[in-house]
Amino acid sequence: MKTMLQIKVTKTKHSRLPETDFNNLVFGRSISDHMFVADYKNGEWTDLRIEPYAPLSLNPANSTLHYGQAIFEGMKAYKNPSGEILLFRADANQKRLNESAVRMCIPELPEEIFMEGLTTLLDLDRNWIPDKPGYSLYIRPFIFATDDYLGVKPSETYKFMIFTCPVGDYYSKPVSVKVEQHYSRAAEGGTGFAKAAGNYAGSLYPAQLAQKQGYDQLLWTDAKTHENIEESGTMNVMFIINDTLITAPTKTGTILKGITRDSVLKLAKEMGYVVEERFLKVSELEEALQNGKLQEAFGTGTAATIAHIAKINIRDNDYILPKKPDYAFSYQVLKKLDDIKYGRIEDHRGWIVKV
Ligand SMILES: *Cc1c(COP(=O)(O)O)cnc(C)c1O
Repeated sequence: MKTMLQIKVTKTKHSRLPETDFNNLVFGRSISDHMFVADYKNGEWTDLRIEPYAPLSLNPANSTLHYGQAIFEGMKAYKNPSGEILLFRADANQKRLNESAVRMCIPELPEEIFMEGLTTLLDLDRNWIPDKPGYSLYIRPFIFATDDYLGVKPSETYKFMIFTCPVGDYYSKPVSVKVEQHYSRAAEGGTGFAKAAGNYAGSLYPAQLAQKQGYDQLLWTDAKTHENIEESGTMNVMFIINDTLITAPTKTGTILKGITRDSVLKLAKEMGYVVEERFLKVSELEEALQNGKLQEAFGTGTAATIAHIAKINIRDNDYILPKKPDYAFSYQVLKKLDDIKYGRIEDHRGWIVKV
């Protein structure tokens, strides 16, 4: 990719690479040397630059701190066996960032700024991308409001930033989830489909209550009836019942359109599975658990790719899922996705871009 945009690059004088222990990476703690920044002012995105990763200075009246106009993305870069940098479906993240932006009254970011900012940053910090199997570079693009003004209105200025973190093999031990039928994450007409900071803020308290009861995560249900399973709040969820893969549709606007979700559904169809994008009722899930019809349940998201679900709590009853056979769909699809992301098999879907 040729750089057409003017990106001013200021390199760090003190790389933190030597002091970073790649054998003990904690997700989101070790941050690479540089960050990409662009400012929105006077109606345009401008001042594209790469700088050493450093604290920001904000005024107490910064409107994000009060009214929360903040959105983000999450994606990963991988190294293939010959050391080339591979990006997985970054175009989908770029489009989703702008869908979130529109909903939160944030100005859309031109595709070139996202892609060139990202690829220039990855190229500069390429030594931060681990090459061990299972390891990758987590990428966090985000936009937030920067007006210093307490009036309630969309900000006139914003910052777009990208920083990255090397992350270890996200060995996902099977998770236990609780079906939430009191609190809501998202309602129709709300912001559930946007990757907005506020959606996370509102979900922390109910999740904490469930964690105190010993569950890792919640399975959110719809805000109106609390009978339809929606998603898990950081992951979409899928179930296999009677050899059919079932996951919630995204048309209600209450569910985040996961790129892993979309990739898994496409691969499932290629692998000959029957796929149903429809709401699974809590009662239907409970029945399937009681009569042993639930074959698999798992979350899908960038961090873990596939998170196997081992226990589901419904209305104070714990159901333990049967151990999955080695040929289970979730193992197969995880391997396939990893093979694509690490460039171990040919990508013929246009999902991989070499930096
Ligand atoms: C990011 C996110 C997901 C997963 O999306 P991916 O693109 O697969 O990483 C699912 N649910 C919510 C609420 C999210 O924010």
